[in-house]
Amino acid sequence: MIFFPATLTELFELQQLHPDARFMAGGTDLLVSLRHAPQHERTIIGLERVDELRRIDEQPDNGVSIGAAVTFSSITGNRLLKARYPLLTQAAATVGGPAIRTMASIGGNIVTASPAADSLPALYLLDARLELRCATGNRTVAIDEFVLGPRRTMLQPGEIISRIILPPAATWDLQLFEKIGRRKSLAIAVASLAAMLRLADDGSVLEARFAWGSVGPTVLRCPGAEAVLINKPLSEATLQDAAALVQQAVQPIDDIRATADYRRTVAGNLLFRLVA
Ligand SMILES: Cc1cc2nc3c(=O)[nH]c(=O)nc-3n(C[C@H](O)[C@H](O)[C@H](O)COP(=O)(O)OP(=O)(O)OC[C@H]3O[C@@H](n4cnc5c(N)ncnc54)[C@H](O)[C@@H]3O)c2cc1C
Repeated sequence: MIFFPATLTELFELQQLHPDARFMAGGTDLLVSLRHAPQHERTIIGLERVDELRRIDEQPDNGVSIGAAVTFSSITGNRLLKARYPLLTQAAATVGGPAIRTMASIGGNIVTASPAADSLPALYLLDARLELRCATGNRTVAIDEFVLGPRRTMLQPGEIISRIILPPAATWDLQLFEKIGRRKSLAIAVASLAAMLRLADDGSVLEARFAWGSVGPTVLRCPGAEAVLINKPLSEATLQDAAALVQQAVQPIDDIRATADYRRTVAGNLLFRLVA
């Protein structure tokens, strides 16, 4: 059984009538996981017709609110996001292929909380906050608190992510999302890097923020690799120091896509794309 409420009020009424129902946005993760689920788990409440969950709105403080059911193709096509948060639009453009991006939502990507989820490294660096809603109210949490581990989040039964809230965009001289997969398109990340850099007039690094995907149980930050670049020129030699630090910090696993050693090497090497 599948329901498509048009408002959040209807959505939570349905959820209370069907407490075991699963929420579904694009279904690109959920329908795969339900393929072998018992029949009673197959009641679904679709989010795609709830207008509030599909909006991208500028906030009074100049931040931006993204409805959780907004698809990656809507993110890549949005001018406001492209102008202010190019890191997020770059990451969104690497999710699956065009057909997947038309269906897959940013909220679904966050809730699945895969170590390889492409939106997460960018959302960590942008200090995204999530609005969580249930029938009785809402709360707001930081993205790095929300994700507890691989495929584990703090979402409670009956609760949804309603919005992703980005604080006002700061000025960064360089924003880059890079992903290595096993093939050029439709690839799940073997390792990925989100990077934001602020540079002085002489090209030295004033501030660096890095987040890696697919090289640990969840997004990996490496404060040492950020600090080692401060007041240094952005060059292969200085990035070598940062790469050595991140290669010590990662906790990659062997899986069908790559070995842990390969992931460790790639996590460091991705930094050199900043000067490529
Ligand atoms: C062929 C293929 C290629 C893919 N490539 C990539 C890739 O390159 N990069 C990548 O990161 N991912 C990839 N994925 C995974 C998937 O497309 C993404 O994780 C996607 O963003 C999931 O969003 P969705 O809207 O389809 O989620 P759904 O499948 O609808 O939901 C996923 C989970 O989140 C829950 N959920 C969804 N929205 C909400 C909400 N607002 N509140 C609470 N719970 C919610 C659902 O109940 C479910 O548990 C790929 C998947 C496929 C099938």
